[in-house]
Amino acid sequence: MFKPADKIQDLQFFGEFGGVNPSISDSSTYTFLAAKTMFDTFEGNTDGCYLYSRHSSPSNLYLAQALAQLENTQDANVTASGMGAITATLMQLCKKGDHLIASRTIYGGTYAFLKNFLPDFGVEIDFVDITNIDKIKTLIKPNTKAVYFETVSNPLLEVADVATIATICKPLGIQVVVDNTFSPLSVTPANLGADIVIHSLTKYINGSSDTVGGVVCGSTDFINSLKNVNNGACMLLGSTMDSFRSASILKNMRTLHLRMKQHSANGLYLAQALQNLGVKTVYPGLEQHPSHQIFKSMYNAEFGFGGMLTIDVGSLENANAVMELMQERNIGYLAVSLGFYKTLFSAPGTSTSSEIPEDEQKEMGLSNGLIRFSIGLDNDIERTFQLIKSCLVDLNIL
Ligand SMILES: *Cc1c(COP(=O)(O)O)cnc(C)c1O
Repeated sequence: MFKPADKIQDLQFFGEFGGVNPSISDSSTYTFLAAKTMFDTFEGNTDGCYLYSRHSSPSNLYLAQALAQLENTQDANVTASGMGAITATLMQLCKKGDHLIASRTIYGGTYAFLKNFLPDFGVEIDFVDITNIDKIKTLIKPNTKAVYFETVSNPLLEVADVATIATICKPLGIQVVVDNTFSPLSVTPANLGADIVIHSLTKYINGSSDTVGGVVCGSTDFINSLKNVNNGACMLLGSTMDSFRSASILKNMRTLHLRMKQHSANGLYLAQALQNLGVKTVYPGLEQHPSHQIFKSMYNAEFGFGGMLTIDVGSLENANAVMELMQERNIGYLAVSLGFYKTLFSAPGTSTSSEIPEDEQKEMGLSNGLIRFSIGLDNDIERTFQLIKSCLVDLNIL
């Protein structure tokens, strides 16, 4: 059995003076005793030497190592945001004349990048219902370079069958690129055949809603290509993480396993309780979820089904009223993003997915009454449930 939390736990990085945390590299540039070493370092040929912190820094390499352990890939490269990881990866893989297949239910920023930005660089994109394997097959062309999707999609919580998609793509040399932001530790896409795994560290992995960050996990060859001084997208597009931030994210990663277990336990409890009340609830851990079995076939069971769930309260007016009342009663915050200790809720149609045109939202089942929850670390989730119920009752929604 794959034990990602153990692999992170076993990583030891000591500080300069024997500190139990690694020292933070507080420099943008580094000195050399010999000019020749500087040249070799610039070309990326010298291990253990640093030249300039956009290229790499000790703090960023420590965090990258921990993330490569998490995702069971050879290597990783951290970026200043999740979008910095996604855009660099896709621009590295897909050049003028190439074709990309992407899930139609993805993070709004990724959707906007693929719909409005990448086509201007001559990349052709087809959006697909990622749960429709036959449709994916029919879209594949000789110039298809990659298939891009989220393990658990935002905001509809559709689950992609990573292994089946990888089985189709592998013989054709098509790269399988998975955004695993919603399911760190729970699902390990590389173990199912994914080539590249991306995270917005902003969410669960950092978990304290105090910074943005991203990572690309993949083969050493691909990560080196992103860092290449002549044609690497991470190097040249410049989405570099600051060392202080990577140090703080690494410290937060030390409790990721505990947090994911609590988020998942709370998510499952609330999903079941809300469904029993008759509220239209979507959560991959519910047996009624269309991809429940697929999720179960993929997950590292001890980390559960994650902390994301949605309910549908019928209309945008209802959704707004419920969210405002829940905030007033201190259940959580009316805010986008996810992975915080406190529950966060938002109406995706008018926030994180507002880049998606209304008619397309309708077609993919993104209704106006949808509320997306990132369930917090509440110690007494029964109490939280009673509070949510009281909001629904007082607003005559139940
Ligand atoms: C937030 C998010 C992103 C973008 O990450 P940033 O850190 O905000 O740039 C990408 N994918 C998913 C699934 C997200 O939730």
